[in-house]
Amino acid sequence: MNFEVSHALDWVNRINEKIQDNKGELTSLDQAIGDGDHGINMSRGFQEAVNKISGEDYSDVSGVWKDIATTLMSKVGGASGPLYGTVFLKMSTAVKGVENIDSQTFSSALKEAVSGIKQRGKAEAGEKTMLDVWEPLADKMSEVQDFDRQLILDTARSSMESTKDLVATKGRAAYLKERSKGHIDPGAMSSYYVFEALADCIKG
Ligand code: ADP
Ligand code: MG
Ligand code: MG
Repeated sequence: MNFEVSHALDWVNRINEKIQDNKGELTSLDQAIGDGDHGINMSRGFQEAVNKISGEDYSDVSGVWKDIATTLMSKVGGASGPLYGTVFLKMSTAVKGVENIDSQTFSSALKEAVSGIKQRGKAEAGEKTMLDVWEPLADKMSEVQDFDRQLILDTARSSMESTKDLVATKGRAAYLKERSKGHIDPGAMSSYYVFEALADCIKG
């Protein structure tokens, strides 16, 4: 399959639904190891992104992702706004001018997003951040030939869960040092919903 404008619109609508449904959970996770605003940040950002795209007419996926990026960057404070904004901006640039976005193109775009998180957050794998979900997803998707719903779901879940045992060395949770252990990273959890939403809009 190719990832079309309709998929891009469906994706962000589904992300927003999941974030709104799980806003309280994201807040609780951030209360445990951060400042308790991740649910608020994400729910505001993705609601604004949905509002933005619903009034527009798009000719390509790149345009949809660019509008999501600029909305998240301008409407969300904290670490997650610029980081999620960077993710969508990097993906937008990666697919600009590409006629058919197959799974290989999509996974290359994810790899660009991963580089963006690393640059912007100065983060590496294993630091208990959203990167610990995005990087395995980009890697796993690049190893298969087509969009694989189950692979996306399994990778997203296991990588999100794996952040529980990590000690945070980036973001607010890093202040807690060893005490950050035993809690799932909030940004890894919201990233899990992003990929669960992706799996939902990929049929077959
Ligand atoms: P803030 O920490 O500014 O209140 P949020 O609570 O919205 O922002 O987002 C926190 C999440 O952002 C963390 O759980 C983590 O996944 C991610 N994050 C924070 N700092 C970094 C960083 N330097 N690199 C990558 N991800 C980060
Ligand atoms: Mg926070
Ligand atoms: Mg904050």
